[in-house]
Amino acid sequence: MSDIIVAGAGIGGLTAAMKLAAAGHSVTVYEKNKRADCGYEQSDSFDASAMDYAGIPIPDGYIAPGNEITFYSIDETVEPITTPVPANYKNITVERKVLFAYLASLAEEAGVRFCWETEIKTPLVLGGRVCGIETEQGKIYGDLIIDACGMNSPLRRNLPDFMQIDKEPGAMNYLHAYRGIFNRVESAETGERYKIYVNDDSGFTWIITEDNCVDVLIVNFSEISYPQVADRLHKVSALNPQMGKELLRNGRFMQIPVRQPLAVMVADGYAAIGDSAFMTYAAKGSGIAYSLKAGTILARAVLADADGIYNADTLWKYEEDFFKEVGFDACRIAMVKNLMPAFSADEVNEIFKRRLVSSEELYQLISGQYQKSKLPGMIKDKIKILNELPEFKAQLISLAGWMGRFAVMEPFFPNKYSRKEAAQWRERYNKFFEEQIKEA
Ligand SMILES: Cc1cc2nc3c(=O)[nH]c(=O)nc-3n(C[C@H](O)[C@H](O)[C@H](O)COP(=O)(O)OP(=O)(O)OC[C@H]3O[C@@H](n4cnc5c(N)ncnc54)[C@H](O)[C@@H]3O)c2cc1C
Repeated sequence: MSDIIVAGAGIGGLTAAMKLAAAGHSVTVYEKNKRADCGYEQSDSFDASAMDYAGIPIPDGYIAPGNEITFYSIDETVEPITTPVPANYKNITVERKVLFAYLASLAEEAGVRFCWETEIKTPLVLGGRVCGIETEQGKIYGDLIIDACGMNSPLRRNLPDFMQIDKEPGAMNYLHAYRGIFNRVESAETGERYKIYVNDDSGFTWIITEDNCVDVLIVNFSEISYPQVADRLHKVSALNPQMGKELLRNGRFMQIPVRQPLAVMVADGYAAIGDSAFMTYAAKGSGIAYSLKAGTILARAVLADADGIYNADTLWKYEEDFFKEVGFDACRIAMVKNLMPAFSADEVNEIFKRRLVSSEELYQLISGQYQKSKLPGMIKDKIKILNELPEFKAQLISLAGWMGRFAVMEPFFPNKYSRKEAAQWRERYNKFFEEQIKEA
């Protein structure tokens, strides 16, 4: 039996924790918040098949109809595009606090201990191995540290450089977000339930009209201030009379990673998971499904290490399986996302106007339902019809080239860990994405 520390009660950490405790390990989660304050004040949607993958029963009331999303261009004269929901897609929509409470209770039932209100400051490193965490209450040692502290993890940020784990997400690789839940004006017309507006500053505003509230999410690659949020809220409420002025919940600024996963996510005694390892679907920042899968994959790799060594070489199996099952696909989406800031709102408007992206394609891209093999073909088809938009055509030709280069790079992923090979992989992988962003 090993002593396993889960740092932060992130979704992937909780998933791994419950599986490792069920297998007989001593697992403790250290979380900076009070139990009641965990989970955002919002509802989230994700692919239900990730719960099936993790073997976590789906409680009654979680399954909801998939979100039919209507996209609005900045030009009000352009017809919006509504994405269809495939009949076979099983969607979950659930309050984050409810999901958090459910996963935490399953973890407790499996034997996981929780230490609430325990803020982690930094990792403890001895002899080249991560051997614990330093908290406000003191030093705590463990055989394995699972870093589920989210995008700004103080563990990841303070690891020694020789571990090859990137500390920061990098420019244009995360969204600045504001989320507010407002009252709903019952008497007003609502139009479509779920709308996304393209903003004139390369950002987006989501507005979801629920039975008893209106949920608004504003995102941008640049930092957003209160006056900008106020301006956006004003604009979106003018277009949506059902949105009331009273802020019922949330009203917080947050950050959402939208990039390829970490090049190297393990070290001796350490594994990053979820937002700590930038495991989100880059087209929109959804990370719950990836985290549930990653938690399952990590637990599998840890349990396979019967000697309980948890060195980078045994934990590499987690990284390898994650990349094969999820991460390489996530990289392709990140490549598409890297083009987004390159287009002005007017250029995006042209794409809408000429219906260059069909509603099905848009759905596949934002929901993660696209088939990996079809993405390069889809891009090539667009290139053929794009003679009138040379700028956009050039971007797509370049994207097709990057997709091809990525396919060539994939086999360089080391199938065994060594410091040298991990360092070479990291350099190749990071350079690839840095160059793609620079070229876009
Ligand atoms: C506004 C918004 C909307 C989103 N909507 C969706 C959606 O609809 N669907 C979807 O799939 N995903 C969505 N996501 C993304 C999703 O929240 C994450 O990708 C997913 O939860 C994985 O993140 P995590 O659990 O690893 O990290 P986090 O959710 O960041 O959790 C990290 C945990 O670690 C704790 N922690 C942090 N630092 C410390 C510390 N120093 N010491 C101790 N504890 C610490 C935090 O308190 C928190 O409990 C959304 C994110 C945001 C911000």
